Amino acid sequence: MKSQEIRSQFLEFFKSKSHKIVPSAPMVLKDDPTLMFTNAGMVQFKEYFLGNSEPSSSRITDSQKCLRVSGKHNDLEEVGMDTYHHTMFEMLGNWSFGDYFKEEAISWAWELLTEVYKITPENLYVSVFEGSKEDKLGLDTEALELWKKIVPEERIVYGDKKDNFWEMGDQGPCGPCSEIHIDIRSEAEKAKIPGRELVNADHPQVVEIWNLVFMQYNRKADGSLVELPAKHIDTGMGFERLCMALQGRDSNYDTDVFRPLISELEKITNSTYGKSEKIDIAIRVIADHVRAVAFSIADGQLPSNTGAGYVIRRILRRAIRYGFTFLDTKEPFIYKLVDVLSNQMGEAFPELKLQKTLCENVIREEEQSFLRTLDQGLILLENIISETKGKTVSGKKAFELYDTFGFPIDLTALILRERGFDLDQKEFEVQLKEQKDRSRAATQVTAGDWEEINPVNAEAFVGYDHLETATRIA
Ligand code: ATP
Ligand code: MG
Ligand code: MG
Ligand code: MG
Repeated sequence: MKSQEIRSQFLEFFKSKSHKIVPSAPMVLKDDPTLMFTNAGMVQFKEYFLGNSEPSSSRITDSQKCLRVSGKHNDLEEVGMDTYHHTMFEMLGNWSFGDYFKEEAISWAWELLTEVYKITPENLYVSVFEGSKEDKLGLDTEALELWKKIVPEERIVYGDKKDNFWEMGDQGPCGPCSEIHIDIRSEAEKAKIPGRELVNADHPQVVEIWNLVFMQYNRKADGSLVELPAKHIDTGMGFERLCMALQGRDSNYDTDVFRPLISELEKITNSTYGKSEKIDIAIRVIADHVRAVAFSIADGQLPSNTGAGYVIRRILRRAIRYGFTFLDTKEPFIYKLVDVLSNQMGEAFPELKLQKTLCENVIREEEQSFLRTLDQGLILLENIISETKGKTVSGKKAFELYDTFGFPIDLTALILRERGFDLDQKEFEVQLKEQKDRSRAATQVTAGDWEEINPVNAEAFVGYDHLETATRIA
């Protein structure tokens, strides 16, 4: 089944259960001081949950563009390393605003997966919230009893607050949840370890596909929970993971959502996917990041030096950097993928088609300018190396290269390692901290709802130039 069809079957199924189909909200948020990007389907409905405004229908369904690169949900470090976390992904969802609750949410999810999509029930595991002492919440017996009617107990697992209590951010609507996980391992692998032991264990073939959140509380600024005025359902299913399961693949990147992008990338960069781990990671990173960047630009968020724009710039630079280091790309090439992306996704997300030329131009210019930085940085780094006495390069010099020329520190570390030098990382960290302190003092400026975030600091965003990443890239 093609991904387009998988998406429309989801929406049609919930339409047949009296849900209204609505478009995705923008991925980039302009008027929410607590959040930069939509990180889940429920974000656009937050005010309905809180009872502050009225939905146009008490049952809604959609496919929401999400981005998880900052704040509470930050998956950036996994992207490319694993095969099922993306920066930008689609979240299929169905909502009840004070209408149906756990019973319908659970039985419809099961009906869709096993009767419409025809997933073998034995491959599905479900989880139930076990309770949380600090929040004075007990086991979700209501969900447990409902699941027991359709799933044998050996495929029901219990989860703690980390996995089975969903919160958008530190504040806001939240509640216990039941997740549905799928085991797509071979029969031989399944015989070795029961699937239930691999649920939530970061196994690439036992993955969470759908989260059913039972919205009952609002987390206040002081951390306490209060009951919401009414009870709601908020579900989110990872579209790319569902496609993986239904298309019989064992990686999201092998579905028709990513394959066209990867084929084009192989052609442009003259590389092959599936032969070397480092090249595969680079290809996955680029195929993933181009989507995040193109969708952001189509939403009106251009790369820039502050706030959300800075996050986008760093995602794009991370992709450029992976290409530069592992695919040997010295000329702009990522912009060439926009055409493939817009052909493939433009029907479901027309903004991508409308803004295609803008996306291409912006990405190409960003690539050009960052590649220049990389080129110049390499020359400067050579000078630093030739001036170095001994085998340890000064952290202060590396910091200048990073701070003044924007040359990524992990690239410096990598090149130095390759050349048999060490970097004085302690000295680098000291310089970085001093600079952070200086600019924190200088940039506490607010513009309307938007806090100007010091680039080095953007909302706990961990980018390519973090020392931690250096070891993983290397
Ligand atoms: P995981 O435990 O795999 O990180 P999650 O519990 O953080 O997922 P939820 O917040 O419950 O995810 O989001 C609902 C659904 O969205 C998940 O069940 C999953 O299918 C999908 N999803 C979550 N994060 C990502 C991501 N980074 N890339 C692709 N799909 C995702
Ligand atoms: Mg997660
Ligand atoms: Mg999870
Ligand atoms: Mg989840």
